[in-house]
Amino acid sequence: MLGNMERKIIHIDMDCFYAAIEVRDNPSLRPEPVAVGGRSLRGVLTTCNYEARRFGVRSAMPNFMALKKCPHLVILPVRFDAYRRESLRIRKIFERYTDLIEPLSLDEAFLDVSSRKEDAKEIAFQIKKQIRRELGLVASAGVAPNKMLAKIASDWKKPDGLFQILASEIDGFMSDLPVSKIWGIGKKSEEKLHSKGIDTCGDLQAFTALQLAHIFGKFGSELYNLCRGIDDRPVVSDRIRKSISVERTFPANLDTLEACLSKIETLFAELEEDILRLKSDRQIAKLFVKLKFADFTRTTIERSGLKISRKNAEMLCQEAFGRKALPVRLIGIGVRFAGETRTSSRQLQFDFASSRSG
Ligand SMILES: [Mg+2]
Repeated sequence: MLGNMERKIIHIDMDCFYAAIEVRDNPSLRPEPVAVGGRSLRGVLTTCNYEARRFGVRSAMPNFMALKKCPHLVILPVRFDAYRRESLRIRKIFERYTDLIEPLSLDEAFLDVSSRKEDAKEIAFQIKKQIRRELGLVASAGVAPNKMLAKIASDWKKPDGLFQILASEIDGFMSDLPVSKIWGIGKKSEEKLHSKGIDTCGDLQAFTALQLAHIFGKFGSELYNLCRGIDDRPVVSDRIRKSISVERTFPANLDTLEACLSKIETLFAELEEDILRLKSDRQIAKLFVKLKFADFTRTTIERSGLKISRKNAEMLCQEAFGRKALPVRLIGIGVRFAGETRTSSRQLQFDFASSRSG
């Protein structure tokens, strides 16, 4: 199923993140060329804003060189606490759309939104908008069917970019793409390629997998796919899902136990479908049923050692209903996974299919 499903990957990359936070927190700096990186002349810059870039200042540039290019450059000390705090706030915005989030750094992350019904570009647009409104910071976003292309796309229209590469556009896009844009090609590989007259991914496509393996060793076979825009690497979430559940709020309260029980079948079928889609070999530890009553109190009954069945869900529902015997607004059914120390990437790969109900 996964193989046939086109993935929807978003790469979000904040625009000169550290410098942008400093300028936001001190608006008098707004028109100035600003860099972050500590004041020592022997240090290097971590980030600089676009005003500084106009002078040829770049991140990772030694401070003394940056000051040569731009003598009035404002160089501020690094405030990692502040950057981490903002990064967490951005994370919370991502979590409104998916749990399948793979951060690359404080200011960059992949999101897999394949399980969402909405268009991925619309989601990326919403995320950018919320980051701007809630944090006063600007993000660029790339949208594509895989990670490599999403990362290229987020850089394509920077700053404040939103660029999508559709599956149907990949061939055309790749043929002219400079090889340096391929994720994993560093300066050395780039020089090696240029020395062989290879400048674009189109040039690279003329080589067989075997030839590429001769030139690049193990990376060669990967390169064979990457230069064609093929990249199957999953977005690997840094957090492990602890449960899956489905729940529904009803337009009219359910007044009786029978009315509640009549809803279990559909809910349980949805839960089962989500569990199947997860294809996880993780052990299910508990079944639970959650009710929210007309007075807005809620109760959850969970039990380990129960078979995951509709009958048992009904039994838990009955027990939960008996706690208050008030009309019910919401029913949820779910399972909790057994605790574990490490999750394999295969499991995480399948994780995204079920984020709808997480
Ligand atoms: Mg960035």
